[in-house]
Amino acid sequence: MSFNDLGLEAELMRAVSAQNYSTPTPIQVEAIPAILAGKDVLAGAQTGTGKTAAFTLPMLQMLNRSNGSDHRPRALVITPTRELAAQVHESIRTYGKYLPLRSTVVFGGVGFHPQAAKLRKGVDILVATPGRLLDHAQQKTVDLSKVEFLVLDEADRMLNMGFLPDIKRILKLLPQKRQNLLFSATYVPEIQKLAFSLLTDPARIQVSRQNAATELVEHKAYTVARTRKRSLLTHLIKTENWDQALIFTRTKRGADRLTKHLIRERVSAQAIHGDKSQSVRTRTLADFKRGKVRILVATDIAARGLDIIELPRVVNFDLPEVPEDYIHRIGRTGRAGSTGVAISLVCFDEGDLLTAVEQVLQQRITIEVIEKFRDEVKTQTWSPGRPAARPAIQRTRPGRRPASGQRRRAY
Ligand code: AMP
Repeated sequence: MSFNDLGLEAELMRAVSAQNYSTPTPIQVEAIPAILAGKDVLAGAQTGTGKTAAFTLPMLQMLNRSNGSDHRPRALVITPTRELAAQVHESIRTYGKYLPLRSTVVFGGVGFHPQAAKLRKGVDILVATPGRLLDHAQQKTVDLSKVEFLVLDEADRMLNMGFLPDIKRILKLLPQKRQNLLFSATYVPEIQKLAFSLLTDPARIQVSRQNAATELVEHKAYTVARTRKRSLLTHLIKTENWDQALIFTRTKRGADRLTKHLIRERVSAQAIHGDKSQSVRTRTLADFKRGKVRILVATDIAARGLDIIELPRVVNFDLPEVPEDYIHRIGRTGRAGSTGVAISLVCFDEGDLLTAVEQVLQQRITIEVIEKFRDEVKTQTWSPGRPAARPAIQRTRPGRRPASGQRRRAY
């Protein structure tokens, strides 16, 4: 299947060629014709599958064909994080650069009024995070009554972050008749419920990452005493001469502490998390992408949607509490055909978390102990590499986080 077979117009094909994409990804093959046929879509796809182009290309085409003289947005794309919103908007600009469609993006953490001014001038496509979108709706700086095309991107993450009430409020502001697309990496019961209420006879599309986690990403774990994790990390960075790595910690404070430690050890590092202002987050990401910063330390939510091409390694300094987050985390490496390594630093009380990750991955992760760090490990109760020693965990509802009623700010 080639892009020529998908029914895309010349202007979009030109933009695709400019990106040097030779063939459409599986989600693009399935989603583009379905969306062009006017169908609602329920797609199980995560970052790295080419999902953004899968909804953006047909959305642009549909909007270009219909009449859009009004200044009110006709397409609305909602994303869980600011970074993802910015990235999706960038893709819309890239793929739509030969079409006369206007787009903008709104998210929190940056000035409200410049966004309002852009909205006032008129846009065809609006990309937004839920909170700031509602602020604009309340201030009447945006009118959503002409939205004919709705995309909920990374919907599972939005629910995990407690955005469901906001989403429901936003849906009430939209016209009844519209085309809806729902993208989600995992298909948990909450997503099922949302899909049922939102979508009409949807085309169901399920793709695994094209560069499947199991194929292009090598998974490794090192056992280490909790108090020695930072030293082990510095040891690995220095002895293996890492060029770049994205490191995940569970908390914002943990990210800050680790970053300070790395800087003290003369490793260039910066942290990205929810307490940093949007301008700092944007600058940090740009520095990392340019290679000015060697190590980026992030919390799960801040890292969501970061499109860092060919990142060689992702490190789980803390294992994620929700094992599906491991998949989201490693989505940053092994992209676009390149190989990557996912490294987890596992202390004795994280054995069950590692087992849960293995269940999601459906593969065992190789565990190593570095000689220098062996003594401390030996004193702990969990023996590495011995399955029986790892407590099996019962997970009755995969991917379930605490309540979806409130926005989680803990990250
Ligand atoms: P996404 O899953 O939308 O985050 O996309 C992941 C990456 O794949 C982005 O860097 C895109 O530029 C890239 N991409 C999207 N479609 C294709 C394609 N057909 N061929 C090669 N790369 C693509």
